[in-house]
Amino acid sequence: MIELRGITKRFDGTTVLDGLDLDITDRHIVTIIGPSGSGKSTLLRIIDGLERPEAGSIRFTGDNSRAKGEAAQGSDTSHSPLEVDLANASAREIKQLRSRVGFVFQNYNLFANKTVLQNVTEGLIYAQGMSKSQANKLALEQLDRVGMADFADRHPSTLSGGQQQRVGIARAIALDPDLLVLDEPTSALDPEMVGGVLQTIAQLAHEGMTMLMATHEMRFARDASHHMVFVEHGRIVEQGSPEQLFDHPEHPRTAEFLSSFV
Ligand code: ADP
Ligand code: MG
Repeated sequence: MIELRGITKRFDGTTVLDGLDLDITDRHIVTIIGPSGSGKSTLLRIIDGLERPEAGSIRFTGDNSRAKGEAAQGSDTSHSPLEVDLANASAREIKQLRSRVGFVFQNYNLFANKTVLQNVTEGLIYAQGMSKSQANKLALEQLDRVGMADFADRHPSTLSGGQQQRVGIARAIALDPDLLVLDEPTSALDPEMVGGVLQTIAQLAHEGMTMLMATHEMRFARDASHHMVFVEHGRIVEQGSPEQLFDHPEHPRTAEFLSSFV
């Protein structure tokens, strides 16, 4: 289980996240939906230590029971308990947090001057201190997982957006995270590229990867999520199973928001 508590973030005096609490069950895919500007990206960035909140904590309970061997092979990270006071975290704690969380960006954020393989090995060598040969081997396995091993020697600019995003996913999962965070991973893609990336995400879900994803892909969210969270103005308006939110929303705003997608 991963528990977020009291996440509060202000920008220039404006409250963007207002004491938000959220539980993420191991091996579940949790999707966050909500209007633009509701605080989704800010929340995800806080979870990966990219943004510091005014208050809030994250706790990894450490009983992550996901099947070993499907993630980074050869890595025997213990996935032990970890609690971080996000408002007051030291550089060391942020580094620990980053080692638990993989982040997939809307715009892939690949290194343009590096090959596909180097994009994946970079973190393994510099963050995890792996040898180059070990990193290459692991990176190729991760690229294979997302169907991109044949592109290992290419540069990002020679790939489609969908292919680049699959490399972004391989890079994030190579570090064997307890949680994979995805911020609208398909929203920058041409429509014909969306399916392949969603399929990759569905495959990871099937393998038991714990994921938290902001998305506007409502059909996918409905089909793939274990749990959905509707956020507005930095607060959770309603959360529950996809069936609950789509078919039996308790809050009129949930119904109104979802009806804008049909
Ligand atoms: P979402 O991802 O749901 O569209 P964001 O988390 O990106 O929402 O933004 C939430 C609010 O915080 C918005 O009003 C946005 O303008 C504001 N915001 C986000 N990042 C910054 C920043 N670095 N500086 C100032 N305001 C920001
Ligand atoms: Mg956003």
